[in-house]
Amino acid sequence: MIAEEIHRITEALPHGVRLVAVSKYHPAESIREAYDAGQRLFGESHAQELQRKHTDLDGLDGLQWHFIGHLQTNKVKFIAPYVSLIHSADSPRLLNEINKQAQKAGRVISCLLQLHVAQEETKFGFTPDEALAYLDSGAWQQLANVQLAGVMAMATNTDDSHRIHDDFTLARRFFERARNDYFAPLSPTADTPFAELSMGMSDDWHIAVDCGSTLIRIGTQIFGQRDYGSEGGMISETEK
Ligand SMILES: *Cc1c(COP(=O)(O)O)cnc(C)c1O
Repeated sequence: MIAEEIHRITEALPHGVRLVAVSKYHPAESIREAYDAGQRLFGESHAQELQRKHTDLDGLDGLQWHFIGHLQTNKVKFIAPYVSLIHSADSPRLLNEINKQAQKAGRVISCLLQLHVAQEETKFGFTPDEALAYLDSGAWQQLANVQLAGVMAMATNTDDSHRIHDDFTLARRFFERARNDYFAPLSPTADTPFAELSMGMSDDWHIAVDCGSTLIRIGTQIFGQRDYGSEGGMISETEK
């Protein structure tokens, strides 16, 4: 089942689009099954759950952990030594803390700016204006141990595919503008590291890919429904 879904999705992806298998609330055995099917990028959204799985699965060659959920500043230290991409950098304060913990771990951590484009109340993410103001401030250039690598966005939770398309298009325009105005000039010869646009989940990834996504984050379609009672043992209601 897991292997079949992974193959079904990856075969449908255009060149340059990668799959992040979102394994939150699913056990280490499911991750191993996906790994055996060739999957290497895994997304988690709780620091302690990731920490536990990282320990359980240590030694799987080439497995990379992506952090995709809201990250509390006091949890950054748990994942800084090994996380390969943080999709959900949603405030200057969090980026400062990631920089600090990356420095302690002797690493540079790649991060995506989480952009709030959905037509709904959520506490997390930069609005496009806030994100532009942050880029304009140049504060990110002082963060020697953070590499801004692109943008992450979630569409409005709706069945209206036009609405979803509009949200993703807004994120894509922001991404291109940021890349051209702030990052391309920094690397005139090489490709800019600001190259990832993370959008698309189980229900909307086809639209996201049409809108230029480079990283899709799929959980339910691969692993089935999440059982919030199982892995949730160590996770408080408010963290979901
Ligand atoms: C859980 C989660 C996903 C995966 O959602 P599915 O609908 O299960 O594919 C993707 N992105 C983020 C940020 C998530 O928290």
